[in-house]
Amino acid sequence: MTTDTHLPVPSTRPRVEGFRGEVVVPGDPSYDAARRVWNHAIDRYPSLVLRCHDTDDVRAAVAHARAHGLVVAVRAGGHSMAGLGVCDDGVVVDLSPMKGIAVDPARRIATVEPGVIWRELDAATQEHGLAVPGGEVSDTGVAGLTLGGGIGWLGRTHGLACDNLRAVTMVTAEGRVVRASATEHPELFWAVRGAGANFGVVTALELDLHPVGPVLWGGEVIHPGARDVEALRSLVDLAGRVPEETRLMAALVTAPDAPFVPPEAVGSPVCVLAGAHCGAVEEGRATLAPLQATGPVVDTLRELSYVELQQVVDKTLPPARRAYVKSDFLGPLDDDALTVLADWHHRASSPHCQLLLHQLGGALDREPEGGTAYPARGAAWMVTAVAIWLDPEESPEPHVAWARGVWEALRPWSVGTYVNHLGDEGADRVREAYGASYERLVALKQEWDRDNVFRLNQNLAPCPRLA
Ligand SMILES: Cc1cc2nc3c(=O)[nH]c(=O)nc-3n(C[C@H](O)[C@H](O)[C@H](O)COP(=O)(O)OP(=O)(O)OC[C@H]3O[C@@H](n4cnc5c(N)ncnc54)[C@H](O)[C@@H]3O)c2cc1C
Repeated sequence: MTTDTHLPVPSTRPRVEGFRGEVVVPGDPSYDAARRVWNHAIDRYPSLVLRCHDTDDVRAAVAHARAHGLVVAVRAGGHSMAGLGVCDDGVVVDLSPMKGIAVDPARRIATVEPGVIWRELDAATQEHGLAVPGGEVSDTGVAGLTLGGGIGWLGRTHGLACDNLRAVTMVTAEGRVVRASATEHPELFWAVRGAGANFGVVTALELDLHPVGPVLWGGEVIHPGARDVEALRSLVDLAGRVPEETRLMAALVTAPDAPFVPPEAVGSPVCVLAGAHCGAVEEGRATLAPLQATGPVVDTLRELSYVELQQVVDKTLPPARRAYVKSDFLGPLDDDALTVLADWHHRASSPHCQLLLHQLGGALDREPEGGTAYPARGAAWMVTAVAIWLDPEESPEPHVAWARGVWEALRPWSVGTYVNHLGDEGADRVREAYGASYERLVALKQEWDRDNVFRLNQNLAPCPRLA
């Protein structure tokens, strides 16, 4: 809870050598907006926010923090569940003003600065009928999502966002500007594809483009919560038969008061089954037809543009709420697992809670195990319990307990965890997230960031320096 004692006193504006961006300090009119992230359960007060406009600004910001012994938080889209893009007392290296996008349709490469969010990249690439596989919520940052993996609608067709990374430009802890690709610092390039927040500040990402859309087949069908297990079973059965172009998901939620929800269902638990087919519309219609055959009370499957698909989930996860998230990758799901999901759906701590199940597989498993630092090839599903509450005065306890309860109950099916969905969960969970890549990553951290300047991430702590 915020109390007046947390409010920092207005501070004088320091001179930041070589920095030409905006310097925001406590007391500035823009300070409160600059320190806020997606998750308003995170309420931190940095002493300085340095809003960078280019790579030189990033170098100056990192050098300033190091020279003054200040903690560094690197912020792009601000969607870290744990609020890792902001810190108390230290410096926020705010990349959000860096909005450059260059699309090269002939070479099928997009070069993207780290302040770009998915909605902006999708709009620019779809002008050419192309897309980079991204996430599902269009205001997440391209940088943070890609550097930790990046799972979305195109994943089963074209892989993770990080599988589509060709190269990055990065400011290192020492202030060097390096490019990492398959041929330049290849070991660093391996590491940034899954653990990228640990090694420096990425100031440009070069990403593969694929022909997508513009029109696809997708949408949702909705069942009453009383039919959770039956509906989920139909989804799991279908998942075993669909081609790689199709991706399925389920959302166990409380029905919102929306035009497409029958009045009698509003406020009650419902099971949303969603799907999208990233190939021909007619093929998608046939592939997803079994979802319609299960007797849903709402059916919104339709032709939709890729840009629309990328924003379908936005309204259900808006910024500025309070959230606590627990997530794991899961193996094949049997009826016992589906019963666990249904049970916890009906015990949600608030009407805003969401229990999400994402289909994986397909092209997500094409990259060989160990080919990138992202370790979780071969998982069948990802489950994410998103506890959300609105009142800042409310205790987080019941919501945290609900998300943890879901997670514990599903541990028997767990096969790992996703670094981008990790909260502040301790060293064992960080190790679990990096899986088989962990030791190799720690050795690289030693090489590139020996003093752990970049520690506000799912951190690979290097060995302390000997005096
Ligand atoms: C509403 C919502 C929806 C989501 N949906 C998806 C989804 O569909 N698929 C998916 O895979 N994930 C999803 N995520 C998780 C998301 O991938 C992570 O939260 C991701 O880290 C967000 O990146 P960001 O740039 O927005 O966040 P930030 O908080 O700005 O950054 C996240 C982390 O990356 C580091 N970082 C950011 N930019 C850089 C950079 N340029 N160089 C070095 N380090 C950097 C930060 O220091 C921080 O540690 C979602 C999260 C939310 C809140």
